[in-house]
Amino acid sequence: MPVTATPPHTHWGPDFAALRRADPELAGLVLAELERQSTGLQLIAAENFTSPAVLAALGSPLANKYAEGYPGARHHGGCEFVDLAERIAVDRAKALFGAEHANVQPHSGSSAVLAAYAALLRPGDTVLAMGLPQGGHLTHGSPSNFSGRWFDFVGYGVCRDTGLIDYAQVRALARKHRPQALVCGSISYPRHPDYAAFRDIADEVGAYLIADAAHPIGLIAGGAAPSPLPYADVVCATTHKVLRGPRGGLILCGARLAGRIDRAVFPFTQGGAQMHTVAAKAVAFGEAATPAFTAYAHQVVANARVLAAALAAEGLTVTTGGTDTHLITAEVTDFAMDAATARAALAACGIVLDTCGLPRAGGGVVHGLRLGTAAATTQGMGEAEMVRIAGLAAAALREGATEPGLREIRSAVRELVSAFPPYPAQPAS
Ligand SMILES: *Cc1c(COP(=O)(O)O)cnc(C)c1O
Repeated sequence: MPVTATPPHTHWGPDFAALRRADPELAGLVLAELERQSTGLQLIAAENFTSPAVLAALGSPLANKYAEGYPGARHHGGCEFVDLAERIAVDRAKALFGAEHANVQPHSGSSAVLAAYAALLRPGDTVLAMGLPQGGHLTHGSPSNFSGRWFDFVGYGVCRDTGLIDYAQVRALARKHRPQALVCGSISYPRHPDYAAFRDIADEVGAYLIADAAHPIGLIAGGAAPSPLPYADVVCATTHKVLRGPRGGLILCGARLAGRIDRAVFPFTQGGAQMHTVAAKAVAFGEAATPAFTAYAHQVVANARVLAAALAAEGLTVTTGGTDTHLITAEVTDFAMDAATARAALAACGIVLDTCGLPRAGGGVVHGLRLGTAAATTQGMGEAEMVRIAGLAAAALREGATEPGLREIRSAVRELVSAFPPYPAQPAS
């Protein structure tokens, strides 16, 4: 049903002037944050810039609507339009990823993983996932997360010499521990998982295969990374990383598990869906289905490859020697500082990225840097800018400690990003 009505009786909009009048303090913070995002280099691998259309859906009156349940089966009245919005989001997600079923309600990536576990497992079950020091997410068995408390996690790692997932170890651990589920997916692995190998191991021990594709799902949407859909029983994802949608989660699965997944999201782990976010997810899935997004996803990877090579040339030790994705991890040991000091030196120059634990070549774990190209590529930066960024980052690590060095690099960063504003100065009419 096409909805064309214009409400005659109200004016609304993501009306920044209204926020300014009502709450200047918060309005000031929003502007300061926009300024921070626009004048620094945003290299956090999990971040991106959503489109003005996505932001408009997020700031819409759909935020007012209670909608427990699913389209056509809600616990609240007045859901006729949000039902349509959710159906569009579900249909677009299914088409985009070639999935039989999609649940677009998880509030976050962690909520999606929680629901997947709730659908497939019982408390106390054994789960084999990437070890946390090697790049597993909190939801992969951290003792400070529900996953570590309610399930018995076993961690696999990577080969000492290559930094690549050690599939022989995964198989050996699966045979030994007979897990009910095998999880593939990581917060820091820069290469494509071998989904067929994971499926084979899961089948050998009769385990479910859960792909936590929170990071690569946007590359998968753009055809720039292989899809776990043909192999995994359940695919969990976020919508706000490379996929460039609103902050939220997504679950994809076959028709066989559809009912279990839906019940695990609502009513088992969540209440009412956030319909403004669901609508914004629909907008983002629509954007991700365009040729422009396919080109974007491929450019994200091309940029990351160039950035990884340029960082290596500047003296950083890039894990696995490079990347297949948007994500790069690197050690800074050659700069005679630890990763936390390196992150602070870079931040002082307006270069924003993360630290994380990394499997060290030869064994053990070291703290390193994690960065990605999703946001910078959305801004329109290309390979030439990546080389420049590597040079500025290395200069910050070498000279950032001195006051004049810092000022100079900070202004070079400002100048570079000023040519690539994340949002247009004037909204398109
Ligand atoms: C980002 C991420 C998540 C969780 O996403 P949130 O929205 O922060 O809860 C889960 N798993 C992996 C592998 C991630 O990278």
